Amino acid sequence: MEDCIFCKIAAGVIPSTKVFEDERVFAFRDIYPQAPTHILIVPKKHYADLAALDEKDQPLMGYLLHVANRLAEGEGIARKGYRIAINCGPQGGQVVQHLHVHLLGGRQLAGELG
Ligand code: 5GP
Ligand code: ZN
Repeated sequence: MEDCIFCKIAAGVIPSTKVFEDERVFAFRDIYPQAPTHILIVPKKHYADLAALDEKDQPLMGYLLHVANRLAEGEGIARKGYRIAINCGPQGGQVVQHLHVHLLGGRQLAGELG
């Protein structure tokens, strides 16, 4: 996707603070962090949002969450706790139209989700 900012970040065309990369996944720090740890985990393949996934994509989604867990360990927040968020669509608050998982932690997060 030529005009997708997260495709460009995953390809290294736009710089980011990378924290993890393999053949399927790219993870980097959010440019406007909402917590001491705020990492975005994205598939290298472009999906507009969570709703664009279907049954065959279950392994990918599981892998994104697995990576998030490993990154939480690396950030030292696994035991204290953290939040995984996936915004989907306009009313879900999604701004960037490339599927991404937010990993938030390092402080007490608010109880409400929206
Ligand atoms: P959304 O609201 O779509 O779930 O989240 C998009 C996230 O991407 C926001 O938290 C925003 O701060 C982050 N973001 C947007 N543009 C960039 C960028 O160019 N670099 C980085 N590292 N994060 C970005
Ligand atoms: Zn993309």
